[in-house]
Amino acid sequence: MMRLRYSTAVLMACLLIACATRQPGTPVTPGFNLFSQSQDIELGSEAAAQVRRQSDVVQDSRLQAYISNIGTRLASQPGTGNFPYQFTLLNDNSINAFALPGGPVFVNTGLLKATQNEAQLAGVLAHEIAHVALRHGTSQVSKANVVQIPAVLASAAIGQQTLLGQLAQVGINVGVGSLLLSYSREAEREADALGARLMAQAGYNPVEMARFFEILEAQGGRRAPEFLSSHPSPGNRLRLIQQEIRFIPQRQYTADTGQFKQMQQLAAQLPPPNPQRRLQSRAAPRVSPTRPGTPSADFQHVQTSRYELVYPSNWKAFADAESAMLAVAPPEGLLPNQQGLTTLAYGAIVNYYFPRRKGVDLEGATNELVARLSAANPAIRIATRQPGKITVDGCSAIVTHLSSSSPYGGIERDVLVTVERPEGVFYFLFAAPEDGFDSLQPVYEKMLTSIRFRG
Ligand SMILES: [Zn+2]
Repeated sequence: MMRLRYSTAVLMACLLIACATRQPGTPVTPGFNLFSQSQDIELGSEAAAQVRRQSDVVQDSRLQAYISNIGTRLASQPGTGNFPYQFTLLNDNSINAFALPGGPVFVNTGLLKATQNEAQLAGVLAHEIAHVALRHGTSQVSKANVVQIPAVLASAAIGQQTLLGQLAQVGINVGVGSLLLSYSREAEREADALGARLMAQAGYNPVEMARFFEILEAQGGRRAPEFLSSHPSPGNRLRLIQQEIRFIPQRQYTADTGQFKQMQQLAAQLPPPNPQRRLQSRAAPRVSPTRPGTPSADFQHVQTSRYELVYPSNWKAFADAESAMLAVAPPEGLLPNQQGLTTLAYGAIVNYYFPRRKGVDLEGATNELVARLSAANPAIRIATRQPGKITVDGCSAIVTHLSSSSPYGGIERDVLVTVERPEGVFYFLFAAPEDGFDSLQPVYEKMLTSIRFRG
């Protein structure tokens, strides 16, 4: 799988740019993301398979080829990232289209019928492609501070649980209006801007995208098209897109295939959509809680996009070199809780937290994070806190001791170390059952002192 590499400097620049509202005509680049591109692709393809099972996929190959040709033409323009784009027409009368992380794009027949010409249809596809290229879905999830994600990714990596089922349980659902698919107005502005550019490059008049959104907005009121609930208008959409277009070199728009009317007729002749089938969520397999053995005295090294550290060599690092989150644990350290959701009962989670309150200090951010952890696991209690007692790679850190109930039975002890970093609040959470915890102290201390931030 091809991967794009961004230097830390570029990432930091994007992070700084993201704070200010973009000026029309400036390049649009992906924002901060805890996931790697390959995790986007994995997540999206699993979610797409589920969408296909749950939906009435149009069986007419002429219609599918038509959507796919326009989509592929747009997706092969510069600026779309290195994603395996796929375009699917769904037999569904609601006016909607959506994209999943990593490339799958779905368009409803209702939307095809609502557009006035091929360029408007291309406009919607270009807008969806832009959401994929800018990684808006996983960027949104990254900022939602879902503390269970590293454990969930780890459990999927060892095939213990399905990624989607697990993500659904932590509030990341696949479907319209869910976290993966509801974008901020800023994300919409960016998708419009990049989408307009892709349209022009591919040979479609970008103003048609704005015109179609105007048509949708005119239909507002209580029966507002579904598209607008997942793609909220940034306000003045037409004017913003027109401003953007002024920065795009003038060219002839010659891409129209001339098949649009015929395809609309084919869509009108399709059988009525099947009532949606609801997918049964798969029950979590029973995993008997075997306590992991003693951590090895040998350590090995793991590196993510943001930091590196060492961990016992008989543990496993569930990491991706381009992602910023990590779980390190013996395989028996990942256990389903009573809700069937994987939690890390023995091992460490390393990730970033983004405080809700602006300008909050490290202690305030730590309090927020502990509240998050408690929401995920109501049994968590704060035992003690030692602010400023340690440093992690030269940065001052807060150590918070927590306790909760262990999935192995008895009490679990957790050490949470929070570090203030320019890119966000870095945290290291080490968990193990209380009995025998003291003998693990040298292990987590060695892991902590080995942490080096990159860039
Ligand atoms: Zn959108």
